[in-house]
Amino acid sequence: MSAVVVVGAGIVGASVAYHLASRRVQVTLLERGPGPGTGVTADSFAWVGGSGGDWPGGAEDLREDVLADYRRLEAELPGVTLRRTGSLNWGLQPDQGARLGPGQFRVGRSDIAALEPNLRNPPDQAVHIPGDAGVDATGLTAALVAAAEAHGATVRYGTAVTSLHMSGERVAGVLSATGLHPAATVVLTAGTNVPALCGPLPVDLPVAASPAALARITAPPGLVRTIVACPEFEAREVRDGDLVLTLPHVDGPPALRERAAQDALRRLRAAFRGGDQCRLVGHGTGWRPVPAHGPLIGYANHDRSVYVAVMHSGVTLAPTVGRLVADELVTARPARELLRCRPRVH
Ligand SMILES: Cc1cc2nc3c(=O)[nH]c(=O)nc-3n(C[C@H](O)[C@H](O)[C@H](O)COP(=O)(O)OP(=O)(O)OC[C@H]3O[C@@H](n4cnc5c(N)ncnc54)[C@H](O)[C@@H]3O)c2cc1C
Repeated sequence: MSAVVVVGAGIVGASVAYHLASRRVQVTLLERGPGPGTGVTADSFAWVGGSGGDWPGGAEDLREDVLADYRRLEAELPGVTLRRTGSLNWGLQPDQGARLGPGQFRVGRSDIAALEPNLRNPPDQAVHIPGDAGVDATGLTAALVAAAEAHGATVRYGTAVTSLHMSGERVAGVLSATGLHPAATVVLTAGTNVPALCGPLPVDLPVAASPAALARITAPPGLVRTIVACPEFEAREVRDGDLVLTLPHVDGPPALRERAAQDALRRLRAAFRGGDQCRLVGHGTGWRPVPAHGPLIGYANHDRSVYVAVMHSGVTLAPTVGRLVADELVTARPARELLRCRPRVH
């Protein structure tokens, strides 16, 4: 019997499995897909920020640690590196004169032109967040799983968990088509599927499955230097010559989605000198788990045999959440940073 079965090898489950295994907990990680990071993590824009953006509910209490946990993972996991490009955003907030947070700076046209030299018409003003970065979310997920295995974790792909396994009142593992996977504790990191898997438990998990679309583009290397977020698009270079571009979600047939991707490509081409060399490689829609009031992280039943970790901005939060979840499970001491993330158990 595994001490802990983790269900779902997206970036959150991979991080939980890694941090548990590295603390010598016997872990089994079950994933229905053919490999790590094949859920919404594969479609992420993967902007990692400790400063800007939305931090709903308990996410605010995790914010301070995000960049430090990323630095730690870069040291612990070979080949994992953030692209520390900083971000530039303009025209998104209604009140451009609003007070800026720590690590955010208002910059003018000449600074913007220096940061994004290929931009045809730099705006008069933008918010620059030099600490912001991007990451290869799928690559990081794979690295976390590989490191968990190196610490002794068992990983099973093609294993869709169908339900919790009850032994009397207590959850004693999970069931999949390949049989029973017994565990002292089950950690559910199955993204949008967490609420369904928790069906029999007395817990409220208000989690929406929210669609968001992404295009992959080839471009001249260095065309886009920072993470650019403006009313026309969000774009960043993921590696030299490869960009990702967020798209408006279109609820319609493939032809309409293709048109939305082509329109976004046109906006990018128009914005950057050299943009005419950009080509669309592909596009897709990911279903993001978005809890109504911020991250849901904690026990989902009274006997503490089931633990859930489901959140938006999971790429930003996964390193910190994995560390804190492992700490709670190993020490049985509640992590102060997670106190506002608890699901309501009745
Ligand atoms: C277009 C787009 C842009 C985004 N931009 C950002 C961003 O800039 N920054 C950021 O931080 N976040 C961003 N996000 C959100 C981020 O991608 C997600 O919050 C994060 O990937 C969630 O990770 P997860 O591990 O919880 O979910 P997932 O990656 O979906 O992992 C869950 C895993 O569980 C598996 N699973 C589900 N059910 C079962 C089952 N019954 N049995 C076994 N396995 C199961 C799935 O196959 C999946 O692999 C973006 C998302 C999208 C779509």
